[in-house]
Amino acid sequence: MIPNKNDQLEIKIEDIGAEGEGIGKYEGYTLFVKDTVMGDTALVQVTKTGKSYGYAKLMKLVIPSQYRTEPRCPIAARCGGCQLQHVDYSKQLEYKNNKVLSCLTRIGCFSEVTMEPICGMDEPYYYRNKSQFPVGRDKDGKLIIGFYAGRTHAIIDTEHCYIGAEINVDILKVMRVFFEKYKVQPYDEESHRGLLRHILTRVAFNTGEIMVCLVINGTVLPHKEELISKLTKLPGIKSICLNVNKERTNVILGDRIITLWGEPYITDLIGEVKYRISPLSFYQINPIQTKKLYDTALEYADLHGDEVVWDLYCGIGTISLFLAQKAKQVYGVEIIPQAIDDARTNAELNKINNVTFYVGAAEEVLPKAAREDNIHADVIVVDPPRKGCEQSLLDTILAMAPKRVVYVSCDPATLARDLKYLCEKDYKLEKVKAFDQFAHSVHVETVVLLTQQLLLK
Ligand code: SAH
Repeated sequence: MIPNKNDQLEIKIEDIGAEGEGIGKYEGYTLFVKDTVMGDTALVQVTKTGKSYGYAKLMKLVIPSQYRTEPRCPIAARCGGCQLQHVDYSKQLEYKNNKVLSCLTRIGCFSEVTMEPICGMDEPYYYRNKSQFPVGRDKDGKLIIGFYAGRTHAIIDTEHCYIGAEINVDILKVMRVFFEKYKVQPYDEESHRGLLRHILTRVAFNTGEIMVCLVINGTVLPHKEELISKLTKLPGIKSICLNVNKERTNVILGDRIITLWGEPYITDLIGEVKYRISPLSFYQINPIQTKKLYDTALEYADLHGDEVVWDLYCGIGTISLFLAQKAKQVYGVEIIPQAIDDARTNAELNKINNVTFYVGAAEEVLPKAAREDNIHADVIVVDPPRKGCEQSLLDTILAMAPKRVVYVSCDPATLARDLKYLCEKDYKLEKVKAFDQFAHSVHVETVVLLTQQLLLK
């Protein structure tokens, strides 16, 4: 039954939505309620209704959920960075695991799925190796550095982010003093005036190297020597750069980097493999969990040294280089040319020469290589963006018939759709394991092993 707008109802919250909001049902009708948690019994007021679902606001918590917990961060409820800090971490993991399972059964139509236990973080705080702090002014003209509130460009001032690297607290302190002393003007989106847009920090957790990059609407930072001298007193600083962004845009980084001090990059390790990271390069945000995820992908690929492996959607070649340690030959495919430049640099840096990288769309490069160059595949790894794989790519995979397909996914819904397609034909769903790479967010990563069934028929 669809309730009326402004109706006050008592409902039980049973699930978590895409933005971290609670989801409950009133006589079978789904309501999304901000500020509620799975397990709450809440008095809510209906604010908007549609045919199949509606929205309501929390009026009173009748019985608070046992899964509620006090967030460590005082701005967690307002900041766009975390959606679930107020939910007990083990419940967050259960929710993420269930999300994958329910997509596989609902969308993938798999009836019997046994998932390996979800891989959660040992320490679900201070895990992000990259942080981007917008700089601005509040209503009273005071300089503020922090994060955007959810879905807006209003900056919430903060000195301490509990999911970013701990050293950021010291870096921001130095920045605030410097900006105040020299009255450096923050950038104003409306007038397109002012210099300072963002502060970007990157920390290589495995080597301890740190990069600080100021994104500015210009090419010169006045009094830069003083900032350099203050920042280089902090342990681990290896790179201080400017990124020039003079565009009227929401995109944080521009194309040009000016190195102020040190190298224009830092170096990190995942397992034995070194990766060079510049302000512009893509790099996994949580390398500790990434290592665990790649180890599982490698285990599922079950390589013995004589296999030809394709790594589709390879980014800067992180998985390709990992696989190359155990395979005869790896082919990586990625659509962004700069990422392939980084991938080739990283292969050289590690003296790995059994990897070949292609720039292009996976759905175009793979069929061409199979048809024209007669390259086959023993194992295919895919790690597509949220929208999943093109159906034409899945058809090529079916035609190439690798023994194993390892699917790494950041969206369980498109994962389930693609697995259904492959498993209705020649593959069997063998193993599924979820990973939490982003504690306190609603995201979940999954690694899946499919095996070829034709040989068995
Ligand atoms: N495997 C990488 C990155 C995966 S993210 C890692 O672990 O680090 C997904 C990547 O797919 C992005 O780098 C994106 O640029 C790339 N991509 C998007 N569409 C693509 C397509 N059609 N063909 C190939 N690559 C694509």
